Amino acid sequence: MADQEYTLPIPVADEASKPFFDGANEGKLMLVKCSQCGTYRLPGRERCLDCWSTESEWAQASGNGKLYTYGIMHQKYHPAFADETPYNYAIVELAEGPRLVTNIVDCKPDDMKTDMPVEAVFDRVSDEATLIRFRPTH
Ligand SMILES: [Zn+2]
Repeated sequence: MADQEYTLPIPVADEASKPFFDGANEGKLMLVKCSQCGTYRLPGRERCLDCWSTESEWAQASGNGKLYTYGIMHQKYHPAFADETPYNYAIVELAEGPRLVTNIVDCKPDDMKTDMPVEAVFDRVSDEATLIRFRPTH
C-alpha cells in the first residue's frame, strides 16, 4: 500500500497515544501496562481498570488476539470510503486483554467468524503513520 497514495483519514497521535503510534511505525503493538498489578490497557486511560493505580509503563504486546465482534459497513458515511465500501470494522480482543477497534485484512466477509484467532499486521499508510490491522492466523 505504500506505493500508492493513501486517501483515507489517518489517526493523529496525541501525547498519551504517541508511543502507541511510534511503536506501530516500528512494527510493534504497544500497550500500557500497570506497574502495580500487570494489567494491560489501551493508551488514554490514566488509571488501571483493575487496581486503579496510575503507575504504568509501556510494554510490547504479542500482536495475537481473537476477533471479538465485527460488522460489514455498506453505508458511505465519509466520502473517502466510497471506493472502500463495503469494508469491515472489527473489535479484536488482544491476548493481553484490551479490545482494539481495527479492520480485518486478508479475509473475505463470509469467512469472518467471531473468536477466530488473528494476528497484527502493520500497514504503513504514509511517511508518518502505520495502521495496525489484523489477519486470520492459520
Ligand atoms: Zn493495576
